Amino acid sequence: MSDVTSGRASLAGSSGYSEGSTGEYRPDPLEYEVPRAQGAGLNGIAPAPHMERAEHFQAVREGRLGSVHSWELVTAMDGPGTRATVFFSGCPLRCVYCHNPDTLYMRKGTPVLLEDLMDRLRRYKTIFKVTDGGVTFSGGEPLMQPAFLANLLRACKEEGIHTTIDTSGNLGVNCSDEMLADIDLVLLDVKAGDQQTYFKTTKAQLEPTIAFGDRLAQLGKRVWVRFVLVPGLTDKKENIETVADIVARWPNVERVEVLPFHQMARDKWDVLGMEYELEDVEPPTPEKTEAAREVFRSRGIETH
Ligand code: SF4
Repeated sequence: MSDVTSGRASLAGSSGYSEGSTGEYRPDPLEYEVPRAQGAGLNGIAPAPHMERAEHFQAVREGRLGSVHSWELVTAMDGPGTRATVFFSGCPLRCVYCHNPDTLYMRKGTPVLLEDLMDRLRRYKTIFKVTDGGVTFSGGEPLMQPAFLANLLRACKEEGIHTTIDTSGNLGVNCSDEMLADIDLVLLDVKAGDQQTYFKTTKAQLEPTIAFGDRLAQLGKRVWVRFVLVPGLTDKKENIETVADIVARWPNVERVEVLPFHQMARDKWDVLGMEYELEDVEPPTPEKTEAAREVFRSRGIETH
């Protein structure tokens, strides 16, 4: 997920993948092209050695190989403590405010072996422990590569590392109960409260996110919700109230983060040659952002 908190992933490229968002991932055949190794943003993780096509598919199917955009160490972002955030490549949504449009295409990521990524993450175990931090799998959309994600989650838990996924919930059907058992915290983006606004914002359906949120609530899984306030798009009073009502029925949500839209990713869209719909949109005022937070607080939800 690449909302306004995570416009940090470095630029890698884009292409013309398009996919509806029905909650079920149906890959464009091109998504399974063997990605070109780029190495950008991998900071010490070697791209996987070249594999023949059949071998590559087998490794992807088995979750031994994934397409990764980049990773970084962060503090007080993407979950508690100091964290290694791993940005997966590929996302089924097309959010108009996406701050990492360079993570949208799986085939544009760098192929990385599970063991190489885990070798890197293991190095920070002491920092994770001292700061009550861990690893956050973000993107893009981590649930677009469920086998790879499942193996990473399992490997982290075997190492005693706290795990978080940062997701829109659109591909919640890809998250098995076994995977959920290995996830300590879910950062769930609820981008709008009604289908019309959700579609304008993401070009996708809202229902899978609600279904995933309901499932997390039934399981009592820890969740932090994120909502991006975009003037003229998601800032209508009715929309904010509907999102707040949805979240209020999930008692497992520990906090909501209302994130004011900003323009820090505009250059990325330009460089990628992608049409950017929010060219002229100003960030919301601090007062409007605070007023939106109050809507959530009025429902008894801890909100930042
Ligand atoms: S398009 Fe994907 S990566 Fe970008 S903000 Fe939306 S969910 Fe996140």
